[in-house]
Amino acid sequence: MLKKNSPCLPLFIKEGDRGSSYKAYDLTKRMQAVLPRPIMDLIKYIGRMAEKEGLASFAVGGMVRDILQGLRNFDLDIVIEKDAIKFAELLTKKLRGTLVVHRKFGTATIYTDWPKGVLAPPLAGPKLKIDLATARRERYERPAALPTVEFASLKEDLYRRDFTINAMAISLTKENFGQVIDFFEGIRDLKMRRIRALHAKSFIDDPTRIFRAIRFEQRLSFKIDPYTENLIREAVGKKMFDKTGDQRIRDEIILILKEREPYKALGRMDELDELEVIHKDIRLNKRVEKMFISCYDNYLWYVRHFPERRPLDLYVMYLMALTDMLSLRDVETLCERFVFRRSDRLRLISYKKCGQGVLKRLGKQGIVKASKIYSLLKPLSHETILACLARAENKLVTRRIKAFIKRYGDISIHMTGHDLMAYGLKAGPHFKDILGKILAAKIDGMIATRKDEREYLRKLVH
Ligand code: ATP
Repeated sequence: MLKKNSPCLPLFIKEGDRGSSYKAYDLTKRMQAVLPRPIMDLIKYIGRMAEKEGLASFAVGGMVRDILQGLRNFDLDIVIEKDAIKFAELLTKKLRGTLVVHRKFGTATIYTDWPKGVLAPPLAGPKLKIDLATARRERYERPAALPTVEFASLKEDLYRRDFTINAMAISLTKENFGQVIDFFEGIRDLKMRRIRALHAKSFIDDPTRIFRAIRFEQRLSFKIDPYTENLIREAVGKKMFDKTGDQRIRDEIILILKEREPYKALGRMDELDELEVIHKDIRLNKRVEKMFISCYDNYLWYVRHFPERRPLDLYVMYLMALTDMLSLRDVETLCERFVFRRSDRLRLISYKKCGQGVLKRLGKQGIVKASKIYSLLKPLSHETILACLARAENKLVTRRIKAFIKRYGDISIHMTGHDLMAYGLKAGPHFKDILGKILAAKIDGMIATRKDEREYLRKLVH
């Protein structure tokens, strides 16, 4: 249990105002079991360094939730008493990292090398990220706006979080290192496998928490508790999303699509009348479900066959599946409204513009030359091609797309414009045409070697 005169905790404990009094359990052993040694050492180091500065520090958020469940989570989300930014500056120097500061919010993020011996999780960035926040209180100037920050206590900091299971902290101060602080019955909710909001205005303050509730519910196989579900319905009914920035909604949609079973989460969004936030005409039906499943199967096929190639953005393929029933104009408007990244936008729109036509042409019976398939598919991203594959309803199309990806999607020729000039040709736009013809001959298996290319060039120009 928590030691009595511990230097930091009593500063924060204000009984009676909100939530229940805290409960403390020692999680040190669990942390040791779940976290790799270098991460554990780093956490201890942060705690010790803060203490040297006379500050209390806590790990908070998803990491605490996951450690309690015996799950690995390398999201270092740290709350520091008084001034996180000042502390972050010191820590950045020690870790030789880089620092991004958000003064307005009293927060900072450090990016540093992954400690030696730690295998970064597949979706993690190239650097280890440490988020630091100052223990603070927020008040909302108007509902659904970004919060205005005031500095206050840990309890207040935890109270402004989304759900009880994400609102626990672990003390990093040496004397009570590893003790979990649970003001709002987060541990009980973890045990009961439920997602519970911290207060009645939670979704009014921040409607994106509705997406988060669904995401955690599906990911952890928990259940949103009935009271919280009512709050969600109330916020959806009040059209709170209209007051939320579209880009924040976009980020949440992408996060949902990056989950292991996004279709289930979308189904839940549908139940809560939330799908129409994306677009009023989006519907879930057998066909969309089938396309989601095929996108995933094709993604796995691709990763298995080409582990060395650029990792695919599966969420982009899911977006294509989700917006498949919309018109091109609708997809363009949707991309503009949510300000999708340029590369996402281009891929989504190219699928919409070319997908149907490509499938039709690839479905043609009889002989379709490999070079023809190449010219249809080469301009498209692999996400677009695989979404077409997911949409394909006949085996011929599937075979042709897979042959392109496996056999000749990456084919190139030896000959360049310099060779054409050396051959005595005058440079000009027709070079592209000549080289294209040589490439087509190679794709169609008519030529193979450098010598064949020269021979073919000779025939072309004479
Ligand atoms: P994940 O495992 O998906 O990364 P996470 O819980 O770590 O989940 P983050 O988005 O990294 O989620 O957020 C870290 C913590 O910040 C959360 O655990 C939660 O306490 C808090 N948080 C994040 N978004 C919100 C929000 N919209 N409203 C309130 N608290 C939030």
